[in-house]
Amino acid sequence: MRVMLALGGNAMTNAEGRARPEDQIAAAETAMDAVAELLEHDVEVVLTHGNGPQVGNLLVKNELAASVVPPVPLDWCGAQTQATLGFVLMNALEASLGARDLDRQLATVVTRTRVDPDDPGFTRPTKPIGRYLPEDQAKVLVEHGETWEDRGEKGWRRLVASPEPLEILDAPAVLALIEAGFVVVAAGGGGIPVVREDGRLRGVEAVIDKDLGAALLARMVDADTLVVATDVPHAVLGYGTPDAQPIGRVAVSTIREYAADGHFASGSMGPKVDAVCRFVEATGRRGVITSLSHIVDAVTGETGTVVLPD
Ligand code: ADP
Ligand code: MG
Repeated sequence: MRVMLALGGNAMTNAEGRARPEDQIAAAETAMDAVAELLEHDVEVVLTHGNGPQVGNLLVKNELAASVVPPVPLDWCGAQTQATLGFVLMNALEASLGARDLDRQLATVVTRTRVDPDDPGFTRPTKPIGRYLPEDQAKVLVEHGETWEDRGEKGWRRLVASPEPLEILDAPAVLALIEAGFVVVAAGGGGIPVVREDGRLRGVEAVIDKDLGAALLARMVDADTLVVATDVPHAVLGYGTPDAQPIGRVAVSTIREYAADGHFASGSMGPKVDAVCRFVEATGRRGVITSLSHIVDAVTGETGTVVLPD
């Protein structure tokens, strides 16, 4: 059994979303203990993770230090956070495996994801990133070609493209490592967005949705199950209303209808549902959305929102 496991923000930051190094290490330890428990079963695991707060921190450093050291582009921030989070996750997982007398080799792959240079996101960016700034400071950055949006009370925020992931370019390396018995961390933050131009790859200013990246990697490494681990045990109907109802086992076409009816918020549960549906539609296999503490049951039994082919 091969499992692609996508870890949400709560695996790398504390409950309030704080991302000091100690918060990230503590969250990773909790998350990797759940993964170690999963590895006690006969499974191969590929892990991926979000990187929003970490990239946000790097952008602030870019901004504040710009007169002293050259700012680095967003794709470099993606590469840096893949490496740092891979390091933190591997250390935490190794400790949890040791405590259980399990011996598995670990690797992190710096992963590039190809996107279309003509993706509509590049002309009409939609994904908010980084910190809020007052209007006058935001306007300076707009003059430098960035897109910023007035978000009312809190100030202005930068918007970037969130293009469709087309191909996980380093999936063959991930596959070779899994087949050699490694537990692999890959495609962090959805992968570093690159475009192919004149026969060369070039990083672009964009962020890829990590759940959609996970769905694509899951297909490319022939995973049996895609598990999206977040901070709620189920996707629900009527979210935030008194008669909210958890969704358990569900056919892919049915949950697609719920999505079309607007049950899943676009910046949070929406992409998770979309990711799981894409995987199930493409493979005829199973996708699960659940909380981190339920991942063993999500793989070995039945829990969470389990999306099945029609
Ligand atoms: P992650 O950081 O794990 O990627 P997100 O915060 O992006 O997670 O998405 C999970 C959140 O989605 C939940 O904490 C919940 O607040 C929100 N959400 C929105 N719509 C729904 C829904 N229909 N069912 C469950 N959760 C929902
Ligand atoms: Mg979150």
